[in-house]
Amino acid sequence: MWLRRLLFVFVGSAWLVISHPAAAGIAILQYHHIGDDTPRVTSVTVAELEAHLDYLVEQDFTVLSLTEAAAYLAEGKPLPARAAAITFDDGWLNVYTEGLELFKKYQLPFTIFVNPALMRETPHLYMSWDQLRELQKYGATIANHSNSHSHMTWRLEGESDCEWLARQRADVVEAQAEIEAELGEQPKLFAYPFGEYNPALEQMLLEEGYIAFGQHSGPWGKYSPPAAIPRFPASAQYSKLATLQTKLLSLPLPVIAVEPENMILEHETKRPHLQVSLKDQDDFMPGQMNCFFGSEVVQPLWAGLTFTLQAPKALPVGRSRINCTVPSQSKSGRFYWFSQPFVRPDANGRWPD
Ligand SMILES: [Zn+2]
Repeated sequence: MWLRRLLFVFVGSAWLVISHPAAAGIAILQYHHIGDDTPRVTSVTVAELEAHLDYLVEQDFTVLSLTEAAAYLAEGKPLPARAAAITFDDGWLNVYTEGLELFKKYQLPFTIFVNPALMRETPHLYMSWDQLRELQKYGATIANHSNSHSHMTWRLEGESDCEWLARQRADVVEAQAEIEAELGEQPKLFAYPFGEYNPALEQMLLEEGYIAFGQHSGPWGKYSPPAAIPRFPASAQYSKLATLQTKLLSLPLPVIAVEPENMILEHETKRPHLQVSLKDQDDFMPGQMNCFFGSEVVQPLWAGLTFTLQAPKALPVGRSRINCTVPSQSKSGRFYWFSQPFVRPDANGRWPD
C-alpha cells in the first residue's frame, strides 16, 4: 500500500523517489456578525477576527478569493500547501462598521453573501450597496445568499415539486440580478441560508452556473460536490485559535459518494445510517478514523474504501452534523476531515432557524 504514495522520478542519470504529497484543500472560514453586542453564537469580536487574520499572515497562509480557489480546483492545479478563504454571511451592518479598519489593514480577499430583499426591508440591519461598494475596494467579493434567507427546502402549502423548484430558481436569479444591477457583473457564488440544501437545489444551482457553499465543516478539495462545498464556522466557540488551527491545516477526505444523498431526513429517521465511499485511502490508517456526533465518538465500520456508521442516539429536530477525522501519514499534525450535515424535521416538516 505504501508504494502508492511514492513517485519514482527519473532525473538526469538517477531515479529519485519522492513522497506523493497528500492533496491539499482550502479551508474556508465562515463568519456572520463582527461585534460583542450581537448574538454570540454567530459572532466574532474585532479582537478575535484580528487574531485570525494575524495568524493567517504569520503562518504563511495563501488567502484566496473563492473564485481563485475554484480556478485552482477546476484546472487541477495543486493548491498552496496552506490555503484559506474568508466569508461573511448575511451582510450585517457590523461587518462594515466593525470590520472596515481590519479589511483596510490586511488587504486580504473575502466574500460577503448578501440577501437583497432583506437589505430593502430592514436596511438598518444590513450594509448598504454603497458600503458594499466601499468594501470591494479592500478585497470584498459580493455574492448571493438568496433574496430572502428562507429555508429553501420548505414547500408552501399545496406546492408541487416543480413549482417549489421554480420559486427557488427565481429567488436566486432575482437576487443575482439585483446584486449585478448595483455592482456590475459578479461571480456566481451562492451560500445556502442556514446551510440547508437538497439534491434538487444543488442541480438547479449547477444548471444556473453557480458553485454553492454550505455550513458543514471540512476543507474544500477536488472531490467536494461543487454545489455543497463545506466551510468551517469560525465564530463563538469555534473562534479559538487552537481549534481553528487544526481546521485550517485539515486535508479533504477524498469522498466520492455519500448516502443518504439528501441531508434533509424524514421526521421518522431518528438515527440515520451514513455510508461514505472514498476514492483512495493511501495516506491514513482507517482504524485511526474517529467520527464525532456532538461530543460522542462513533467508530466507523470499514469495507474496502467505504465506511458506515449510525448516529449513536436520536437526532434532535433541526440541524446536526457528524464530523470524521483521521491523521495523515505523510503530513504530521494534519488531519483528513469530513462532515455530513443532517436536518431532522418535526412532524410537520419544519424546524427552527
Ligand atoms: Zn445566512
